[in-house]
Amino acid sequence: MWYNNILETIGNTPLVKLNQLTKEIRGTVLAKIETTNPGNSIKDRMAIKMIADAEAAGLLKPGGTIIEGTSGNTGMGLAIAAVIKGYKCIFTTTDKQSKEKIDALRAFGAEVIVCPTNVEPEDPRSYYSVSSRLEREVPNAWKPNQYDNLSNTQAHYEQTGPEIWEQTEGKITHLVVGVGTGGTISGAGKYLKEKNPAINVWGIDSYGSVFKKYKETGVFDKNEIYPYITEGIGEDFLPKNVDFGVIDHFEKVSDKDAALMTREIARKEGIFAGNSAGAAIAGLLQMGHLLKEEDVVVVIFHDHGSRYMGKMYNEDWLRERGFLKDEKLTAERILKR
Ligand code: PMP
Repeated sequence: MWYNNILETIGNTPLVKLNQLTKEIRGTVLAKIETTNPGNSIKDRMAIKMIADAEAAGLLKPGGTIIEGTSGNTGMGLAIAAVIKGYKCIFTTTDKQSKEKIDALRAFGAEVIVCPTNVEPEDPRSYYSVSSRLEREVPNAWKPNQYDNLSNTQAHYEQTGPEIWEQTEGKITHLVVGVGTGGTISGAGKYLKEKNPAINVWGIDSYGSVFKKYKETGVFDKNEIYPYITEGIGEDFLPKNVDFGVIDHFEKVSDKDAALMTREIARKEGIFAGNSAGAAIAGLLQMGHLLKEEDVVVVIFHDHGSRYMGKMYNEDWLRERGFLKDEKLTAERILKR
């Protein structure tokens, strides 16, 4: 038995029980390990869905150029699909992203333009603005716009949600997901709530992002916005893919806790996961008092640790930020708060 090309291997990722990291909280905690996708992240799922929908709608034509602002993981999915389907890729990203992520995009032949992080989205230098300008200037270009393109949510409604439901035999009680574009939580969460409206959907947000405040007050508060380190989650605007009606609660996690917990996942569970997995586990521990013994919690591990070798898996990086001195007993420290 073989696959006809690498894109056919996307999805059907393993669900793995955590045995050490979460033993102080009640319930069974299962990690959905998305690193087995060919681009080593969950974003492969939505990348091929956005491309397929754009092809069907006539927006993406043979030999066309895909232009997107991406922090790396969506770019990987798009770049791999572009290799197989014969498209060119130009990505804009920010100088906050891991060098490993940017180099990985270039490995697949994509052109990557690095833009400054600390400018407003409307600023002509922002990675949103640069990709919009290129979309107008490059002939036969198509911009997926992962933030507002609802094919993103739909991919998780059609794939990720049903996989989780089947893998837990319908026993899932809580879904815990880092929220960036919102596609993962909105699509998987919507599917699961249609199956069982009692399922709790918890979004993990970062300090410096607008999501939690908006959910709780309905106010888009610019004062919530400031630079932060955690990659892949939180935003300074409201993407259309964030369905606030599906999400029951947002939990904010600090950069330090997210970084240190990412390391704990490797050390305690043998799973080499990315920064948002650490944020999600830290957030879950913060919420742990709400869980009961019979609960079945699914936490999404969006991407692979190899993308963070220069960051939380690097002791100099931790030391420079003063994180290293608190590394011992991260879980215990969070639980005691
Ligand atoms: N974690 C990582 C590492 C990501 O790249 C992303 C995508 N920005 C997310 C979490 C959030 O996923 P989503 O965009 O589906 O909300």
